[in-house]
Amino acid sequence: MSRILVVEDESAIAELIAINLRHAGHEVTIAETADEAQFAIAKALPELVLLDWMLPGQSGLALAKRWRADPRTRTLPIIMLTARADEADRVTGLDAGADDYLSKPFSTNELMARIRALLRRKAPEALDDAVEIAGLQLDPATRRVSFEGREVKVGPTEFRLLRFLMTHPERVHSRAQLLDRVWGDHVFIEERTVDVHVKRLREALAPVQCAAMIETSRGVGYRMTAHVQANSRTA
Ligand code: CA
Repeated sequence: MSRILVVEDESAIAELIAINLRHAGHEVTIAETADEAQFAIAKALPELVLLDWMLPGQSGLALAKRWRADPRTRTLPIIMLTARADEADRVTGLDAGADDYLSKPFSTNELMARIRALLRRKAPEALDDAVEIAGLQLDPATRRVSFEGREVKVGPTEFRLLRFLMTHPERVHSRAQLLDRVWGDHVFIEERTVDVHVKRLREALAPVQCAAMIETSRGVGYRMTAHVQANSRTA
């Protein structure tokens, strides 16, 4: 399940895409103009955007360029949708910052396959793939966390947080980034919320001596590491 923003001014097409995506378990927001899309992005960062090239007013192409220039949306996965099938247009779309390009009409299967491929490349936390770090295992399909066969009980928010940290290990994520990527909301939720859930997650991981895998980077944020100092393993 991932959060997908569909930017498409033809409502019949947007609805059809949304129905298919929701059927596949995704959470869909529709924007019919560039302004609506910008508003949606400012409110909550999606995990992937389907972006129509031809929009009234500002084009999808201009929107893609704008998002690529903003640090917050620089790595946002974007699939450009277009009626144009020319090779030159394809190149222009990719140059503007689209990760992939799909010409209308396209089949639902094709769209789903492209979405999956792009998420795997850029937002693996949105897929149902199991992940393992230094013996700690997390399986989204069964919603189970375990360490060397011992089950770890975590709440739903801690599960999503752990999943994000495990799919993006060894990197420090700021509280704002975690709110964006885990909660999908960086505006209406306080950054302190992140600290509360990190604390709960560490408590959940403590019985299997994995709490120290979640490091605090003072003044910056948090990161998941497989390389825990021997003396802090039980911390
Ligand atoms: Ca259009």
